[in-house]
Amino acid sequence: MAPGTFDFFGFSDEVAAVAISRLRPCGDAATLCALTAEIVALAEQRLAAELTPHERSFIACRSGCGHCCRVHVSILPPEAVAIARFLHRSLSAEALAVVTRRLEDSYEVVRWMDDEERRRNGIPCPFLAADQSCGIYPVRPLACRGITSMDPEACAVAMAASSACDDLPVIIQNITQLLLMKGAYVGYARGLAECGLDSRGFELSGAVLALVRQPEQIGALAGGSLLALT
Ligand code: SF4
Repeated sequence: MAPGTFDFFGFSDEVAAVAISRLRPCGDAATLCALTAEIVALAEQRLAAELTPHERSFIACRSGCGHCCRVHVSILPPEAVAIARFLHRSLSAEALAVVTRRLEDSYEVVRWMDDEERRRNGIPCPFLAADQSCGIYPVRPLACRGITSMDPEACAVAMAASSACDDLPVIIQNITQLLLMKGAYVGYARGLAECGLDSRGFELSGAVLALVRQPEQIGALAGGSLLALT
């Protein structure tokens, strides 16, 4: 491997090994939550080590810029568990009811859309706040952590383009960050599969809605059940 080249398969193997080592002895809901936090921390630490300050200086993503939060986001069931728990612990009953309605409204629309339709219609993520910040930032999915842009104007133009035939601008991303978070996702999915747990990817709003409505599914997932969307 050339110096400075991120080792996607090596990192994916490393994440899978961490997942298996934690899940084999104890597959309960608490382990699932702790493991998700551990894998996110591992990925963020590796990213901090991989990206130089010079590379970081080109990344234009900032809080308050939510252009890209209008695409399908694929998450693993334990990521949905972490988000559902975060919502239950950080929100009042009234605020949780508001978020649940936003999830219901979003899922009802986006569940029938493919990626291109979602982008073209500009359907925002239900967690995107009015100030365009992420409402679940500490527990945001690995897929969201991998997305970057060198040019927010290009993101805005791409999201506003009306059809697949429009001349979409190229959005230049940091490929190391993208591959690193994908490596974490793939490794985590492999670890879950090897331990007999649900390793399928789900659209964000549908998966979180299912666990907010039916928190008892969290324990069942840890026991090997498949996530049932509501
Ligand atoms: S979870 Fe947060 S970062 Fe990801 S799409 Fe939604 S608002 Fe954006």
